[in-house]
Amino acid sequence: MTATPFELGGVSVAPGQRTIVEMPAAQLYTQTPLNIPVHVVHGRQKGPVLLVCAAIHGDELNGVEIIRRVLRMSSMKRLHGTLVAVPVVNVFGFIHKSRYLPDRRDLNRCFPGSETGSLGARMAWLFKTQILDRATHAVDLHTGAVYRSNQPQIRANLESPDTAAMAEAFGVPLILNSVLRDGTLREVAEAQNIPVITYEAGEALRFDETSIRVGVRGITNVMRHLGMLSERKAPGHHVKPAVAGSSIWVRAERDGVFRSLVALGARIKKDQILGRISSPFTADEIEVRSPCAGILVGRDNLPLVNEGEALFHIARFDEVKQVAQQVEDFTNGIVDADPVAENDPPIAP
Ligand SMILES: [Zn+2]
Repeated sequence: MTATPFELGGVSVAPGQRTIVEMPAAQLYTQTPLNIPVHVVHGRQKGPVLLVCAAIHGDELNGVEIIRRVLRMSSMKRLHGTLVAVPVVNVFGFIHKSRYLPDRRDLNRCFPGSETGSLGARMAWLFKTQILDRATHAVDLHTGAVYRSNQPQIRANLESPDTAAMAEAFGVPLILNSVLRDGTLREVAEAQNIPVITYEAGEALRFDETSIRVGVRGITNVMRHLGMLSERKAPGHHVKPAVAGSSIWVRAERDGVFRSLVALGARIKKDQILGRISSPFTADEIEVRSPCAGILVGRDNLPLVNEGEALFHIARFDEVKQVAQQVEDFTNGIVDADPVAENDPPIAP
C-alpha cells in the first residue's frame, strides 16, 4: 500500500522522500538556538515507523556512527515504512563530550519529562511528544561509560513478546533481560506499548569498529524483521541469542593499579583470576577472582582504581561453554566480513 505524507515537527515528508527536521531543543545563554537534527526517511510503501536514536548520553558515540552508516545504505531507497533517526539526542552533552546535560542531569532519567520543568524535563518531553510518540518501534543506541567497555549486547524487557522478537532479530549472541529503570526512554516507550530495545556496545568517547558494524547489521536485521527491508537473497547465518539469567559486577577490594587478564566476551570460570590490583610502589598485590561462571560482558579499562570500583561485568548463562563459543564465532565473523559501510555508495540526493 502506498504511504501518505509523514508529518514530524511541522514538516511534511512525501512518500519516497527524505529530509532532516531541525527540532528546536533549547536556547543557549547567548540566545543561540540549539536544535536536535532528526533524519526522516519516508518510504513509498506503508510500513512501521522505526525510531533509532543515539547519544542520549552525549559522550556515547558508536551509535552516532552506526546511524550515519545506516542512512548511507542504498537499500534506504526501497524502504517500506519510515525510519526516524536521531544521531545525537543530547546535543548539549555531545558538544561538551559529556554524558550529562549542563545542569548535570542524566537525560535518560528525565523521561517522560514535562513542558514546564527543568532543561532535562523539557528536552525529554520534546523528544517524547514530537518524536517517540510518532514511532511504532524503537532502538536506543548506547555504549559503556568512560573507561568502561561493553561486549555488544541487547538489553530489553523480554516479557513483551514484540520486544523479545526485536531483541532476537537484532542478531547479537547476548541478551540481558533487564528491568526498566525509572525515567528512561525505554520505560516510557514500553509504557506506550512501543517495542524498544537498547544496544550497548563499546566505550564512551571511542569508536569501536566491531561494535559499529554489529550495530549497523543489527538495525538492518530489525528492519528486515519488521518488513521494512526485503529479506536477503542468501540469508546470513542466524544466531539464536542466549539470554542471561542474571549478571553481577565484580568490584575492586582495594585501591591501586589494576591489570585485567581477561578479554571482553571471554568465558569465565568460577574462582578464575580476572585481574590483579597492585600498589604502584611496593610488591603488594591482590588477585581479583570471579565469584561465578559466566561471560565477560563489560570491563573497566582504566588502570587506576579505588576500592569498590566496578571492574568486571559478568553475565550468567545456563550453557556458558556454548554461549562463549557462539560469541567468539560471531565476533570473528564480524571482523572477517567485508566492510559494512565504507564502500557504500553516497546518499542519493
Ligand atoms: Zn548510555
